[in-house]
Formats: sequence, C-alpha cells, structure tokens
Amino acid sequence: MVRGTSTLDVGKASGGQLPADPTEAYARWADVTKWASAQRDEAFTSTLDPDELYAPSPAPPQVFVLGLNYRSHAEELGWGVPDVPMVFTKFPSSVTGPGAEVEITGPKVDWEVELVVVIGKGGHHIAAADAWDAVAGFTVGQDVSDRDVQIRPQDNPQHGLGKSFKGFSPIGPVLATMDEVGDPHDLGLRCWVNGELVQDGRTDDFVFPIPFLIEYLSNVVTLLPGDLIFTGTPSGVGIGRKPPRFLSPGDEVRSEIDGIGEMVTKFVPRP
Ligand code: ZN
Repeated sequence: MVRGTSTLDVGKASGGQLPADPTEAYARWADVTKWASAQRDEAFTSTLDPDELYAPSPAPPQVFVLGLNYRSHAEELGWGVPDVPMVFTKFPSSVTGPGAEVEITGPKVDWEVELVVVIGKGGHHIAAADAWDAVAGFTVGQDVSDRDVQIRPQDNPQHGLGKSFKGFSPIGPVLATMDEVGDPHDLGLRCWVNGELVQDGRTDDFVFPIPFLIEYLSNVVTLLPGDLIFTGTPSGVGIGRKPPRFLSPGDEVRSEIDGIGEMVTKFVPRP
C-alpha cells in the first residue's frame, strides 16, 4: 500500500490477516480497504522505490479491451461511434509493469493510453447501479497493438493476438481507489512518444460509461478478482495519423492519467 512516497507491506502489517498476494487481496477488497483506512501515516515506514513497482494486478484471470470507446478515436478512424460495446480480449500473459522493455514485433506497433479498471470482488449479473461495489480501483495502461497482426485475417479480423505479444499490456504504477481519483469519467489522460505529446484526451469522451460496461460484460461472464478492463483510447494513435506513424526500437512511450500517475515503457529490437 502506497501513501505519498511511503509504503506499507499489507501482509506483514496485518500480521497475516490479509493476503500479500494482490489477486487474493482483490477478492477480499472490502476487508483490505477497511483495514487500510484505519492505518495511520506513521505506519508507512518504507520509502517508495518506483523502480520496484510491478503491475498492480500481475496475473489477471481475464483482460477485456474496449474498442472505439472514445468519440474522438472513433471519428479519427472514420469507423463511426458504435451502438453496442466493441469488446475483445488481451491474453493475461501480455501483462507487465512500469519500466518494461517491450520488443517491437513488426513495422506497425502502435500506442494506446487507456484508463484500466481493476475488478475487486467482481460477480455475475452486476447491475450498473451496483457496479462500483465490484471494482477495486483504477490504473494506467497501454494497449500496445501490432496493427498488422490485429487485422488478421483481413476479412474477419481477430484482435486478440495482435494485442497480446509479450509485454503488450503494461499497467501501473499503482492502483488508485475511487476516493483518490475522484470522478473516473472526468480524468485527463495523456501519452508521449519520445517526449512528444501524441494523445491528450479526457474520459468524459467515453461512448459507454464504466457501470454500463460492467453490467454488459457481467451479463455474459463472471467478473473475477483482479480482472482488467481496458476502457478504450482517445484520439492520437499512430494508425489514425496522416501519414500513419508507428513505434521503432529505442522509442519511449510515457503515459499519464490524472489522480493515478505515470508510467514509461521502452521499446527494444526483437532479437
Ligand atoms: Zn485499446
């Protein structure tokens, strides 16, 4: 648990009452947050080393991704605003943390900064009105996408593999709870490539708000503790540019969301 620049080991400080494993902690999120709010600042005796932070949900059982969930992004691609959520998946083995070195897998690897919802207790058939009870919090994510692989086969594209190369789902640096982020539908999010601002959006541009998405998804699948929902990306991705622009080895992508933090991913050559 992080407070300011100090940390507290939840497993140790709770005397083993609460789990040290984040995925187990999400399953008992109400207990964790109740305990956390009772901890005084003096208990946070370790200093945060940002380089030691890994993905706040390192082994999510399921990873959902929204396509075209920002009006600005739907418009830049010329695909129109969808009337039902466009949902696909990233495979969990693609998850990594901040500061990762990610291999460039081809000539069309693209950036997409996204607000990522981390599921707490989850559930099946969750009504939109109850959605926030199922959520642990929010983190910053990059939905890294190899556009060539994403649109295979051309007549019937299956997005999952093109978004699931090793390291293509960096998340972090921390999980921020609702009281820390404020209104999740009014957050600025930005992305830089080698210091140049390429995406500058706001979650008030969402086509489908988060409670709607949780009801929609959980009417199909059971949402599990630690699951991730990548909620879509605003305009400014490489494939939407004229001419299109993609990542190369040596590039650095920095992503930031208000109230959560920032994260850098380094892109390296494929051996
Ligand atoms: Zn995306």
